[in-house]
Amino acid sequence: MSYQTEQSPERVEHLFVDQRDLETRLAATSPDLAAILERSLAGRAPTVDEATELFALQGDSLAALVGVADELRRRAVGDTVTYVINRNVNWTNVCFVGCKFCSFAHLKNSPQAYDRDVSDVLHRIGEGVALGATEVCMQGGLNPAMPDDGYLQLLRAVREAYPDLHIHAFSPMEIQYGAHRMKMAYRPYLELLLETGLNTMPGTAAEIFDPEIRKILTHDKLDTASWIEIVTTAHEVGLPTTSTMLYGHLETPRHMAEHIEVLRSIQRNTGGLSEFVPLRFIWQNTQLYAEGLVSPVPQGRLDIAVYATSRLMLDGLVDNLQSSWVKLGRELATLSLDAGCNDVGGTLMEESISREAGADSGEYTSAEELRSMIMSRGREPRQRNTLYDLLDESDDGHLAGQPTNHPAGGWSGSLPTP
Ligand code: SF4
Repeated sequence: MSYQTEQSPERVEHLFVDQRDLETRLAATSPDLAAILERSLAGRAPTVDEATELFALQGDSLAALVGVADELRRRAVGDTVTYVINRNVNWTNVCFVGCKFCSFAHLKNSPQAYDRDVSDVLHRIGEGVALGATEVCMQGGLNPAMPDDGYLQLLRAVREAYPDLHIHAFSPMEIQYGAHRMKMAYRPYLELLLETGLNTMPGTAAEIFDPEIRKILTHDKLDTASWIEIVTTAHEVGLPTTSTMLYGHLETPRHMAEHIEVLRSIQRNTGGLSEFVPLRFIWQNTQLYAEGLVSPVPQGRLDIAVYATSRLMLDGLVDNLQSSWVKLGRELATLSLDAGCNDVGGTLMEESISREAGADSGEYTSAEELRSMIMSRGREPRQRNTLYDLLDESDDGHLAGQPTNHPAGGWSGSLPTP
């Protein structure tokens, strides 16, 4: 099954004014589906075959899935919805890889190409710190003009300038490139980054793990086995990562179920995944769309099914499910809080990757806006740090002190001793 043939917009607002209780919703579905959902409520997460069905649900069946996802979210993390005040820095958009889903990258002679020097990066981070950022997130293209130790130089400069800032940086693709340029194996390279001041890594560049789809999207420059090796090794040396999945392009429900199965397996082995972020494919300015390989997938049903199924699949393994306002827009991201999500991500302050692809949600959402999105669904907003420790706040919600451990919101991972 492919989503490419979906034509009409699929509104989902009705799901979130549905007053029926969970029992009534379950009774309105088929016995087979009700059995899968009831097993989930009893702590047995769906298999890959079962999840494949869940990703494709609609109507009353989707309403029942959403109800179960909401209940599992409540049990796992309560009614708190978290956000992080962070500063994104996409420090270069020069990249030679040419992924067909990416509109961010440019070749070095393109008029839109940029390569920010260290002082520019530090200045941008300073803007974020002045606004209360606890994290800088740095990712960029694979720029051949970078010195062999370019990532280390950048990291060293940021760490020296901001000794206490959490540095969340370098996708597995960048780790592969950086290690290659330094002629180092992944493990010593990651250890060197850790010693130099890296705190955590984004689990981006995951896209979709299916090898055939991956080949079309990325030329398989970072194959699935290498992604798994880099992320697993990062966890082993003491670098937690997030985890992601790109959806809404060429994938089928089974590809998504198999993708999350890989993440479940990693998490069982390492405990190093702090969150899962499903990322909707933004098609407008991509080569994939220009070549007629994808048709736009309407927003709504698919997104809600992805979030809700993810909550069921990762129950008991990854507590934190992040909704992406950059990809979905604020309205749908807010609704997704009732479909299993417990986090709205970061303020960002600069987000070139989705903007270049055609997303129109802007590059900055203030902490106040994030809080009001959360409260509009009757939930409690709380500022967190990168690893999901809740931060002390004053009465008006502004950061007042140091992390507090909070049983409902803390990171559920447990890293092995390096
Ligand atoms: S997704 Fe990353 S690696 Fe691929 S072209 Fe874009 S910047 Fe380069």
